[in-house]
Amino acid sequence: MKNRIIAVVLVSVITLSAFTVRGFAFLKGDLNGNGVLEVADALEVLRISSGIIPGDWYKKMIADMDSDEVVTIKDARSILSQSVDLTDINDYHEQLTPYTDHGFGTSTFCVVNSYYSEVLPASPIDNKSNPLYSAIPYGTFDIVTSELIHHSESGNDFYVLASGRRLYANEIQVFNGYNMPYNKAVLKKTVTKNSGSTQFYLALDWRVPFNVTVNPQEYVTGFNSRSFNIKDGVFTGNYIDITFNYTTHTEGELSFPESNVISHTQWITDGNNATLRVYLKNAGCFFGYTAYYDSNNYLVISVKEKMNTLSGKVIEIDPGHGGKEPGAGSGTGVYERDVTYNIATYLKAYLESAGATVVFSRDNSASVPEIEERRFNTLKNNPDMFVSVHCDSSADSSVNGSSAYYYKNYSGPLAFAISRNLPSAVKKDLNYAMFDKGAHFYPFMVTRVENCPAVLVECGFISNSQDFAIINSPAGQNSIARGIYNGIVEYCSWY
Ligand SMILES: [Zn+2]
Repeated sequence: MKNRIIAVVLVSVITLSAFTVRGFAFLKGDLNGNGVLEVADALEVLRISSGIIPGDWYKKMIADMDSDEVVTIKDARSILSQSVDLTDINDYHEQLTPYTDHGFGTSTFCVVNSYYSEVLPASPIDNKSNPLYSAIPYGTFDIVTSELIHHSESGNDFYVLASGRRLYANEIQVFNGYNMPYNKAVLKKTVTKNSGSTQFYLALDWRVPFNVTVNPQEYVTGFNSRSFNIKDGVFTGNYIDITFNYTTHTEGELSFPESNVISHTQWITDGNNATLRVYLKNAGCFFGYTAYYDSNNYLVISVKEKMNTLSGKVIEIDPGHGGKEPGAGSGTGVYERDVTYNIATYLKAYLESAGATVVFSRDNSASVPEIEERRFNTLKNNPDMFVSVHCDSSADSSVNGSSAYYYKNYSGPLAFAISRNLPSAVKKDLNYAMFDKGAHFYPFMVTRVENCPAVLVECGFISNSQDFAIINSPAGQNSIARGIYNGIVEYCSWY
């Protein structure tokens, strides 16, 4: 019996898409929770919907339970909240939903039923990720203003929403719902945790869409004609803007004396939008955030503290490709998948010697996670930093050089530090002049995360014979890893 429960948990984590469909069945029926589910299923639904990372307490609790026991969602929520440190926000916050009549008529609604749904601008209809649109959490509601739009070039389907967003059709559920009153957002108390982040809580009347950007920042058009390169390579953000749609009433202000990243808040209302501006203590000093609904229905914004040192920090390294997906080849039987794993292994040793904990996105086996799953795992693992290791390739064998890529403006400084340090390490160690292609904006799948500085490094061209001699030798792989490590250390020393 206990084995079956554990199986439910493991299967749920691995096959998220199948799981969210099951999770939605109860959400559609009653978000506030009078539906009946088996204990383990109910807890897992709540865990995913609240974004809580399962710790040992959770695994033990699941292992101790009898799967035949049936509870209401409310009971399960109460069990879950007793097991999580919710500090001073421990009352359950009722929220409105479009599933009941509020007296304002009806519309076509959607609810986000993926863990964390990527957001695109309403127009033009393309498949280009935009770093100024932040992902929105599970359970967010919006009004649908379009029919299903098929983008033939990418094969993706979208819906356009009244808030000016566009979401992937496979990440939302569309339904006929009851129009909602305007939202009120109430800022609640803050908690600084030893785990390296500062949380604050918001009580929303309902799960309105919201967008998070770090401003001010000037962008310029650069590599690949994309217009999100941070000007002069400098991240200048001095405040976080969290803009809530359909929100006309606000309440509460906070200051964060214990945080080394955020200072205080200010509400700014503009028509039917309200922005919570959270000022940084120092311009350019920001390391990511997560946003999720906790098991009591509060929106939690968790802001990473600054690193200062690598000791005790969690760095996720993603050795590019792997398993059946070899990546680019040298033409001599050597593939990206193998050299990226070796470079990542050297990098791991350097980081661990500095006291960091290193997580790999994959092992060296034939069966490794798909790229979408790696992105999802980065959101779930919530590391302090993410580095994806790749090698470049070109049909023109004369093209050479190393480079680094960022998505969010606050990942830019890490990309610049690595792109500068990699060639200088290779020059110093092996007297090879790796061409420095610099750092650029690029929307790679794995770096499109909000929760930490995330970069992708191209460690030279596997298709260029001079670069390949470095990439393919143990000494070269070690030197490249040292260069990436030097960049990480330099980045940490700036703050
Ligand atoms: Zn690659």
